[in-house]
Amino acid sequence: MSRYEVTHYIAGQRIPTSSGNHCDIYNPAKGEVAGRLHLANQVEVDAAVAAAATAFPAWSQQPPLLRARVMFRFLALLQEKREELAEHLVREHGKVLPDALGEVARGIDVVEFATGIPQLLKGEYTEQVSRGMDAWSMRQPLGVCVGITPFNFPAMVPMWMYPIAIACGNSFVLKPSERDPSASLLMADLLKEAGLPDGVFNVVQGDKLAVDALLVHPDVAAVSFVGSTAVAQHIYSTGTAHGKRVQALGGAKNHMVVMPDADMEQAVDALIGAAYGSAGERCMAISVAVAVGDIADALVENLAARARKLRIGEGHQDGVEMGPIVTGVARDRIEMLIGKGVEEGATLVVDGRKTKVPGFEKGFFTGGSLFDHVTPAMTIYREEIFGPVLCVVRVPDLAAAVQLVDGHEYGNGVAIFTRDGGVAREFVRNIQVGMVGVNVPIPVPMAFNSFGGWKRSLFGDQHAYGPEGVRFYTRHKAVMQRWPDSIAKGAEFAFPQTH
Ligand code: NAD
Repeated sequence: MSRYEVTHYIAGQRIPTSSGNHCDIYNPAKGEVAGRLHLANQVEVDAAVAAAATAFPAWSQQPPLLRARVMFRFLALLQEKREELAEHLVREHGKVLPDALGEVARGIDVVEFATGIPQLLKGEYTEQVSRGMDAWSMRQPLGVCVGITPFNFPAMVPMWMYPIAIACGNSFVLKPSERDPSASLLMADLLKEAGLPDGVFNVVQGDKLAVDALLVHPDVAAVSFVGSTAVAQHIYSTGTAHGKRVQALGGAKNHMVVMPDADMEQAVDALIGAAYGSAGERCMAISVAVAVGDIADALVENLAARARKLRIGEGHQDGVEMGPIVTGVARDRIEMLIGKGVEEGATLVVDGRKTKVPGFEKGFFTGGSLFDHVTPAMTIYREEIFGPVLCVVRVPDLAAAVQLVDGHEYGNGVAIFTRDGGVAREFVRNIQVGMVGVNVPIPVPMAFNSFGGWKRSLFGDQHAYGPEGVRFYTRHKAVMQRWPDSIAKGAEFAFPQTH
């Protein structure tokens, strides 16, 4: 079968690599190489940043309403092409088709939010801030913004970034994940078709070499990153050391606290979907169930029965709930960590290792695994496994559950399942985590709110998309104005004592 090529996209053109460096793109369900990715070096990074810097002045001068109209056309095109976009995700990421369509839908929400940019960019105005003087504030674009994105949401996470950045008047360079890069080029084509001028949106394909060149480039104003914590920290420290505004969203270990009064069926449904959906390769996946008090035995029994029945297969197969892991290396790491859990004394209740899917024997599959009696000292508790592995930790009461959650280095998402409003309220107010669900296992904020974790799940001050996204991609300017007929004569040497 012929293999497809995925190139860069610079100044409105698909550009091959100048260095001749490539890497393989896999179809993880088949376990086969499906395409070839062109990898950037300094030449392509410089070309993409130059294209974006050239396009910036004219684009930033466009009235916000005209920028919003490009987003409206882009929104319509995305809705028309959402199945094509989702097919790229199934083929290269491996997630099941309904989940891929859901990812595209959540990305489209952000484009819809960005169409409201004239309203979102309005500043504040104070008339007569002093006698004969008015003051106002405005938000202006930054220049060339960069987005570096992970494999697990190849359409949605870039869409957390560029629609808002571009609508705010910036130009953009996207560096997608090497694992599933095709969605980036389809989005580039649709932006062009929507009327976005060439150079406002560019894509450089690549790895660390491309990322590091972008991080130190003098013409890059801001960097948004989503990925693992070690890389997020590197992006934040290098980018800020080179004078850039940086938001770097990192890894996670999300807990779901199940109180003794929780509805068992609802809690189990929530845990099964949130732990094993997208094969656990979600930054908001639940990877730890915290069983409070005497609910633990029944919870584990119910979870085990459901985990054993998970339907695993290729993303287009009817009724399949979970696809393959993105690469063979990632699958082997997950299975190695399961082995480590057993070695360190956790009880492996359901073992998903060595799962085979008929017709897809070479695919990178692993089944759903379930551990009980996990303790905070174990590797499977401390590390982000990023696979379909759910760990149950037993605690005596709510205070111990809160202490456990707060003691973890990550603070992306958390959930509590209970019928008690007072317990839920205290939990929401005090827990040291950025996104909290009450009887909601994956509390991902909608496009008009903002997304982000705490602690080592986010480096930087602003969360992603929503109002925080608008703040990140603009800077504040304050203006004071008066006119000759209200200016008193004489130089002023002291701070005014009256207004
Ligand atoms: P990753 O950190 O390996 O890669 C992310 C991006 O960084 C990719 O574009 C990659 O090319 C680049 N990169 C990788 N190593 C690099 C290095 N050493 N130097 C510079 N750049 C490098 O992450 P991934 O495996 O693609 O994605 C999974 C991770 O992303 C998980 O840890 C998950 O929790 C996290 N994630 C977090 C969020 C969030 O919102 N907090 C959302 C999605 C994914």
